[in-house]
Amino acid sequence: RRGWRRVVRVLEELEEGCATPVGRLRQVVDAMAVEMHAGLASEGGSKLKMLLTYVHNLPTGNEKGTYYALDLGGTNFRVLRVQLGGQRSAIIRHDLDRQPIPQNLMTSTSEELFDFIATSLKDFVEREESFSLTSQQERRELGFTFSYPVKQTSTSSGNLIKWTKGFSVEDMVGRDVSECLQQAISQKGLDMRVAVLINDTVGTLALGHYHDEDTVTAVIFGTGTNACYLERADAIIKCQGLITTSGSTVVNLEWGNFWSSHLPRTSYDIDLDADSPNPNDQGFEKMISGMYLGEIVRRVILQMMQESDVLRPFSSKLDVPFILRTQLMAAMHEDDSPNLSEVARILNDTFEIPDVPLNFRKLVVKICDVVTCRAARLAAAGIVGILKKIGRDGSGGIASGKTKGGSQNKMRRTVVAVEGGLYTNYRMFREYLNEAMGQILGEDVAPYVVIRVTEDGSGIGAALLAASHSASS
Ligand code: ADP
Repeated sequence: RRGWRRVVRVLEELEEGCATPVGRLRQVVDAMAVEMHAGLASEGGSKLKMLLTYVHNLPTGNEKGTYYALDLGGTNFRVLRVQLGGQRSAIIRHDLDRQPIPQNLMTSTSEELFDFIATSLKDFVEREESFSLTSQQERRELGFTFSYPVKQTSTSSGNLIKWTKGFSVEDMVGRDVSECLQQAISQKGLDMRVAVLINDTVGTLALGHYHDEDTVTAVIFGTGTNACYLERADAIIKCQGLITTSGSTVVNLEWGNFWSSHLPRTSYDIDLDADSPNPNDQGFEKMISGMYLGEIVRRVILQMMQESDVLRPFSSKLDVPFILRTQLMAAMHEDDSPNLSEVARILNDTFEIPDVPLNFRKLVVKICDVVTCRAARLAAAGIVGILKKIGRDGSGGIASGKTKGGSQNKMRRTVVAVEGGLYTNYRMFREYLNEAMGQILGEDVAPYVVIRVTEDGSGIGAALLAASHSASS
């Protein structure tokens, strides 16, 4: 058919635009470490917010007792009860199924919203405790995971900066989130204290650290992406006089908003950003996270179609933003049937393009590969950037202490806790990320850096932190 050569040219341009040779990844590593520095030096000093969490101590594995967690993010919330036996014994937990927040409460008042949450919490507590043999002696301790932007004022308090993800309970903006919850809990006559207020990355770090004390950073690759890590308290210049017994504290990067001129950006990225509700925001997230990868692929296919008549007749569905979910992109990418029948089926079901010729199906697989490869390799560079900032990348690090009498810094085992559907479910993303970690770190250092997948850190991690921040543990 006519235009085939132009289609191939579009692919070649995409490959060039998305290229991530190791040299370029190392520039991204450096940029991440530099931006982290800048964000710690002054408020607004970088696109990285580098938010303080006031979590100075992570769970050690010795926590004992029964703790609760409430996880509110997206449009669902969950309650958990976690029993800990000390000495890193198996976590026994009871899960409440995810419950949707009723639509009308998402735009109501904070009183109505938290009254609903506290009622569900009380019902859950009563039900769970009616099954348990021992009665509750002491006041219950709760970890609250609230995954909206919050300016923390202590480990257990913080003010809502703004709502996202469809919520608009306006009277809550600027107010202390855990105080709202605590009031509602008390009004229900439930004896429970909000012991910690955290976001989901901090929960993941807590769970990772509970299992393995060499865990120093946590990264989430899901619909969105974010990371947090353990920093030396005296490195946080913007908050002088931050005194912690441990000498360190957890910092939330909000790395979705990271930006550097070294990021390989294409016209598809520029257009996606311009058409988004938050242009110039979340630049790193828009190249990496599950919300966007399928959308980038759709834009490339659309471009190919517009430049040639390979895919005539014209299909209108190819015009619909975000119609290609990343799960489907992954399914096409991982189609190993000889005639790529899964690719054909998905292109037909999603875009209503029937009978896509085999050579074009191959091209689509290649597009998925290029887009995911870039995402995973940039994600790896981001992780190594964090390691570099804390002197765990084997290079001596910007912030690491000088070793006396020798040029070689002794490498320590370093664990990165990772969570999120993009990493756990998309094999090619995972493999490209792992491979790039090895390439950037080099074969001498890479064996010291371990990626460990945790599960449900946002819930269990909050309960663990409630345990390590309560008087009785
Ligand atoms: P959250 O929405 O809270 O981030 P998850 O961590 O479960 O929840 O991530 C879900 C996201 O992960 C989805 O929106 C999707 O982008 C991505 N994802 C899930 N499964 C797959 C898959 N099989 N292939 C590719 N991406 C996936």
